[in-house]
Amino acid sequence: MILKISTYGSSILRKKAEPVKEITPALVELAHNMLETMYKANGVGLAAPQVGKSIRLVVIDLSKEEDERTPVILFNPEVKPEDGENPLVTDEEGCLSVPDIWAKVSRPGRVHLTYENEKGEKIDMRDVTGKFARCALHEVDHLNGVLFVDKISIADRAVNASKLKRMVKGNQSSGNSAL
Ligand SMILES: [Zn+2]
Repeated sequence: MILKISTYGSSILRKKAEPVKEITPALVELAHNMLETMYKANGVGLAAPQVGKSIRLVVIDLSKEEDERTPVILFNPEVKPEDGENPLVTDEEGCLSVPDIWAKVSRPGRVHLTYENEKGEKIDMRDVTGKFARCALHEVDHLNGVLFVDKISIADRAVNASKLKRMVKGNQSSGNSAL
């Protein structure tokens, strides 16, 4: 089932999401619907608040081709920078909730990621790097009400200010901001 993606200006995107206490079949189904929604929108990551559910659930799939899909479902993910030498890495990001905006964001290059999979097994991944690290940081930010446009340069904010304003306005007029 394709879900509706909330966009910039929706209040749910600014809420801190609740931990998942029990991984029920309904929540696993939600995760699969999130994956389907993400694939259709050509995204590589999606957090539950983006589809109107304020819970700590994220899906990620960095594969580009349909026959190479490697979906990852993360309940209660936590991500933090690894200790030691860990310079920030800057790369371009976008977000399904902030359409048509791409801008550079600096993030830790090496992270420690923990989560529970759909079977409730605890997964502990050390020294995660590259696109998976960036995506995990971006999605866990969503669970804390943080959007990538909060982290872009003042110059990039200025360039995209009118697009952002339009999104907020669109949400106000349709009443979505109250959802
Ligand atoms: Zn996003």
